[in-house]
Amino acid sequence: MMISPAGLKIIEKLEKSGFEAFFVGGCVRDVLMGKTPGDIDITTSASPADVMNIFEKTYPTGINHGTVTVVENGILAEVTTYRCEKGYKDFRHPDGVEFVSDISEDLSRRDFTVNAIAYNPERGIIDNFGGQKDIENKVIRCVGEPDRRFSEDALRMVRAVRFAATLGFEIEEKSLMAIRKNAHLVANISKERIAVEFEKAVLGDFPEKLVLLRETGLIKHLAENGGTIDFSLIDKLKDLPKIAPLRFAVIMNDGAADFLKELRFSNKTIKTTESLAAGMGISTPLEIKKYITKNGIENAKLLVHINSKKYETELEKILAEKHPIFVKDLKINGSDLAEMGITGAKTGKIISYLLEKVWEKPSLNTKGDLIKMIGEVAE
Ligand code: ATP
Ligand code: MG
Repeated sequence: MMISPAGLKIIEKLEKSGFEAFFVGGCVRDVLMGKTPGDIDITTSASPADVMNIFEKTYPTGINHGTVTVVENGILAEVTTYRCEKGYKDFRHPDGVEFVSDISEDLSRRDFTVNAIAYNPERGIIDNFGGQKDIENKVIRCVGEPDRRFSEDALRMVRAVRFAATLGFEIEEKSLMAIRKNAHLVANISKERIAVEFEKAVLGDFPEKLVLLRETGLIKHLAENGGTIDFSLIDKLKDLPKIAPLRFAVIMNDGAADFLKELRFSNKTIKTTESLAAGMGISTPLEIKKYITKNGIENAKLLVHINSKKYETELEKILAEKHPIFVKDLKINGSDLAEMGITGAKTGKIISYLLEKVWEKPSLNTKGDLIKMIGEVAE
């Protein structure tokens, strides 16, 4: 099984230095499913200090929980020391992180069986919890007792839905029941951590699984504005490209901004989502041109994925024929007007009027025609 040549080098180096090291988590799961792995996670018996000594280029990205990012051949890998977690008093932060010497102990603290498989070319696959069988049966199942695992770290419930939506798996019945029971604990989790999982779920190949957020009651506790999501529109998502604001706009429409703000999404994401939501359903050339002046051409292009065929045809025509859209496209400008003795507030009024005229009829955008129309503007 080949997961990542750069990752393999890291594992070999750690083993040469006398430590154990395995691929673990998403990269093993993905390769077993025949998919290209995303990020590379490695688990090792070496301490963070050892890891930083052994490799030339490292960053202590999560040193508090034993994670060091190692750069090998330009590839980043997260190398984490075997650990277990002590108690959780607040449903989110382990009271302390304890490093351990045994891979099995490390695997038992992981969230789901499909994420708790370790692999190393010499030692083979370590799968103490039936992760391979669950991959085969497409099941998300907690490692250990679901009720306890979710009350330890409530984010795991959102992650369960995220993996359902990215992998297309079913959440196993006992785990699902435990989510219903513990859903309220999600209110304790930082909004940023929730946002990461929510976005991954929305961008998944099986976004229809997001209905699980409603069915389990998680949505009420995820955010105060969770009610913003229109679950009847979830089915539309899978035909859309994996662009977060596009998918957000479709399922949230008007209230998107409040929900996204609450989850601390970037201003850029919020603004783009709002712009796209504002353009949903438009189709006439006039509407499109007005939209472009307010929201830009990039957003107008994204709207072809949500709006009607007519919208797409009209937009293509506007762009191909280079219709005048912006004030700068007008064949007359402020200094031309000034030369004609028109100044002050009147200038803006005339420009807006002329722009609307050429939006409706692009061929009117000649200096001669525009000058003729100036007289139509009321004093
Ligand atoms: P992705 O493909 O999105 O990277 P992943 O499974 O690798 O998915 P990560 O969030 O990168 O997910 O986490 C890496 C691994 O760390 C997981 O596979 C799991 O074993 C473990 N893990 C992550 N978060 C938790 C958690 N909250 N509780 C228990 N284990 C976790
Ligand atoms: Mg990962």
